[in-house]
Amino acid sequence: MIEAENGREALVLFQANKPDLVLLDVVMPEMDGFETCTAIRDLPEGQHVQILMVTGLDDSDSTERAFEVGANDFVAKPLNWIMLGHRAKYMLRAGRAFHELNRSERRLAKTQELAMLGNWDFDIINTLFHCSPEASRLLGLSVDRRVTYKDFLAPVIAQERDKVKQKIDAAISKKTPFSVNYRVLLPDGSLRYILNRGELFFNINGVAEFIVGAVQDVTQLKRAEEEIRTLAFYDGLTGLANRMLFMDRLEQEISYAKRHKKTFALLFLDLDHFKQINDSFGHHVGDLLLKNVAETMRGCLRTTDTITKFTGDESDSLIARLGGDEFTVLLTGVGDPENAAIVARRILHEMQQTYVLESYEINITTSIGISVFPADGTSAEVLLKHADSAMYHAKDTGKNNYQFYRESLNTAIRERLTFKMDMKNGLSRDEFILYYQPQIELSTGKIVGAEALIRWIHPQRGMIPPDKFISIAEESGLIVDINKWVIQAACRQNKEWREKGFGAIRIAVNLSGYKLASQNIIEVIRDALQEGGLEAKYLEVEITKNVLMQDTREIVLILDQMKDLSLRIAVDDFGTGYSSLSYLTSFPVDIIKIDRSFVMGCTELKSNLVIIKAIIAMGHSLGMKIVAEGIETEEQLELLKSLGADEGQGFYVSPPVSPEEFVKLLR
Ligand code: C2E
Ligand code: MG
Ligand code: MG
Repeated sequence: MIEAENGREALVLFQANKPDLVLLDVVMPEMDGFETCTAIRDLPEGQHVQILMVTGLDDSDSTERAFEVGANDFVAKPLNWIMLGHRAKYMLRAGRAFHELNRSERRLAKTQELAMLGNWDFDIINTLFHCSPEASRLLGLSVDRRVTYKDFLAPVIAQERDKVKQKIDAAISKKTPFSVNYRVLLPDGSLRYILNRGELFFNINGVAEFIVGAVQDVTQLKRAEEEIRTLAFYDGLTGLANRMLFMDRLEQEISYAKRHKKTFALLFLDLDHFKQINDSFGHHVGDLLLKNVAETMRGCLRTTDTITKFTGDESDSLIARLGGDEFTVLLTGVGDPENAAIVARRILHEMQQTYVLESYEINITTSIGISVFPADGTSAEVLLKHADSAMYHAKDTGKNNYQFYRESLNTAIRERLTFKMDMKNGLSRDEFILYYQPQIELSTGKIVGAEALIRWIHPQRGMIPPDKFISIAEESGLIVDINKWVIQAACRQNKEWREKGFGAIRIAVNLSGYKLASQNIIEVIRDALQEGGLEAKYLEVEITKNVLMQDTREIVLILDQMKDLSLRIAVDDFGTGYSSLSYLTSFPVDIIKIDRSFVMGCTELKSNLVIIKAIIAMGHSLGMKIVAEGIETEEQLELLKSLGADEGQGFYVSPPVSPEEFVKLLR
């Protein structure tokens, strides 16, 4: 036991001797007991020492102060020395326990730090959350602030946050432990992989009371895993998938496609004359070329490219290098095999560039074989074998081309693709024309308008009717240009007729409604009207009813915009398919065109007559005009007139004719 005369001396002696217990009198000269206690607590070694204050003043204020300045206990004078001895013993024991606890906590913290591990717990009943400083640090949270459960989940990257919440919620409701992997975004912008595992504790009634969990930084582990994966599944030279990964994905795709009744294609490529390049420029250049070819192929298959965007919108691809100069492409979601041919064409085209490698200028071509699931095989081996044999066929037919495994596809698809290309060229070469069919007012027989009908004057095949190419144009997206062309041509024609002194004639154009919403059709119409100096009421837009059956909101929006321009809107081919009179009320329609299939037999078939009557009655009650299509005889015309149809068109009046012929009719 060491004794000090006053507070100041006590401090000096404390630092020199580091005692386990300090007995402090409150009343001391120079520095009183409270000040001395505060000063000891401020010393690094004074934080955890046991301090017993001896108060002479038996009032609660000084007791209170004793605790405030950090004393562990106090005794009042006069001192009972025996009791004091016992108390000192208790305090020493408590001090040791406290010291041990403190050390063990520090050890735990250090271990957690080394293991990159942090713990957390959540009191479900009182919604109290706590996590260790190391957990905060791992998640990039401030260590100084109290962390809430919300804070705890905030660093999780947005795409994974729901998953984490769901896992923990599911664990609570299912009363099971959980383990969830996710990434957190650190304040410096880097990502860290976290493994969060936890368990629930229940009260005696089986209600989950709290969760105890641990978060661990598994970034290094993930990186190592990725590295191993890369080595095992990717080609070291090109970074493309290797055979193993490709076959694995192919198997997966087969079972997916079987389940969902999907088709996909497999492309097998082999570079032409690659051996020569290797032999004449060396393997190093050969390797460089393979790398460049891989890059080219990647470029060909990037989904941002508009041509790879198949109608399904779910296309995806995996490119692999099987070895040597052999590559494969798994094209999923192709829908039509034609899309595989489009990709093959693009690869052939892009490959024909000059690669400058080590100052050599090198050209390369490739031969491609294509097999299609399920028609060409339903197992990975067979599909690959058939794509391979198709590739040999491509080599036999002069290299630098593609072949389908099935011969029939080769001709059919080539024809279709040629047709589409011809159509595209035809549009820029002005091979399309509009014919006009007069529309008469039934009561007077006067020509009141014309329906513009497109024809394609093919340089080899002659005149091709719209039924033969509109749907193909829709499929290839060319319809957007065709719609535009039709509107412009009709407005130009109208202008010409007016300039020849025929007055304004109402022209109806047929608009394909295929993805109408994405065609900025309103702008096209507005521009064409302005250019032709045509009042909007002279332009009529014929829409088939399947347009109206698309996404209603989008279509209504477009039709409303058309109405804002004061266009007239007609529903074409009304009465066919699932025409329902009721949907007419949801759209701003001015005219109903009764389909010619009803007009055709109307004089003989009573059922047709009933339908025509119903359409006319309904249309009129909604304030719409009724136009009858396909009137071929005088009887039909008379009948429709008597039923109250407003206008009509058909071979009886005139078939669609060239603009020159139409002028004669006007005269
Ligand atoms: P639609 O709009 O219902 O056009 C009426 C079709 O019936 C025209 O065929 C016309 O020639 C034919 N027709 C007219 N009167 C008679 C008749 O008395 N008897 C018979 N049997 N047929 C008659 P076309 O010109 O071959 O057009 C066929 C379809 O192609 C059109 O049906 C329309 O849906 C579409 N189409 C025509 N031109 C265009 C266009 O510029 N753009 C778009 N997207 N589609 C068009
Ligand atoms: Mg029409
Ligand atoms: Mg029609």
